[in-house]
Amino acid sequence: RAGRAAARAGEPAVTADGVTVHVAANLGSVADARAAAANGADLAGLVRTEFLFLDRDAAPSVDEQVAVYRQIAEALGGRRITLRTLDVGGDKPLRYAPAPHEQNPFLGVRGIRHSLAHPAVFADQLLAIARVARETPVSIMFPMVSTVGEVVTARRMLDDAIGRAGRSDGLRVGIMIEVPAAALRSAAFTPYVDFVSVGTNDLTQYTLAAERGNAALSADGLDPAVLRLIRLVCEQSGVPVAVCGELAADEAAVPLLTALGVRELSVAPPAVPLVKESVRGTRLEQAGPLAERACGLADANAVRALLKPGNVHSG
Ligand code: PEP
Ligand code: MG
Repeated sequence: RAGRAAARAGEPAVTADGVTVHVAANLGSVADARAAAANGADLAGLVRTEFLFLDRDAAPSVDEQVAVYRQIAEALGGRRITLRTLDVGGDKPLRYAPAPHEQNPFLGVRGIRHSLAHPAVFADQLLAIARVARETPVSIMFPMVSTVGEVVTARRMLDDAIGRAGRSDGLRVGIMIEVPAAALRSAAFTPYVDFVSVGTNDLTQYTLAAERGNAALSADGLDPAVLRLIRLVCEQSGVPVAVCGELAADEAAVPLLTALGVRELSVAPPAVPLVKESVRGTRLEQAGPLAERACGLADANAVRALLKPGNVHSG
């Protein structure tokens, strides 16, 4: 199966009943972009731009950012790149943007909150992204959004950057859905976004009040509470829905997410070929009723039992 997946990695992923699902890559470096291209990614669905900002004494200049974003786009042969604005906070402090100690960094000034609290750093990143968008297809995505007001402010700053860049033909604007409040209110964001991308790592953490990476807890993105939020986003957001958390690379989850209405799965580069193969093995006619049942089950273990191979794959 891995051999067949590799051989077909460059082809689009289409379900057995003809629905195309874009299989994208999550990147944290220029090297990752090369790996994504080699593994047949349709686009970069999440560029974690933190790698440019951490472990240094000053923020990267606009020119430095432009050069790196351009290298990523070039490595991907001009396929669309989704640049997520800086997602740092109390747990990943920046030397040049000092922040007070926080008791609960995951509930603190992180993601878009951090960017809005440091407008000079944010404005430079927006300008760099707007410049790159003049020459290659770019999507911009804001992390850790919890209120509409944050998006309104960020878009106003982005419009300013676009004005300074001159134009930004192919720029699409989206938000990450990783806070339950944003999932519950996804319709309220529709006027301000072209797409949304569900970050299941954080959405699971915040929904289940289970710190990610805490080995004593075993929060699972297939928990019906998380699935119901994803279903709600697909029903109400009115824009294309992607998933870019770990769950997107979970083969058991692929048919279910697709059946809920997700049309882009963004995963680590090496996972792209097998996720594409899982999409090809999915028949929505079968996966749809299973997804509905999954949302009503007791817990993630019950969902995993339901999703055993054979139940959802056409073979
Ligand atoms: C997520 O939270 O699911 C996500 C993709 O973002 P990160 O893992 O970078 O927090
Ligand atoms: Mg996240």
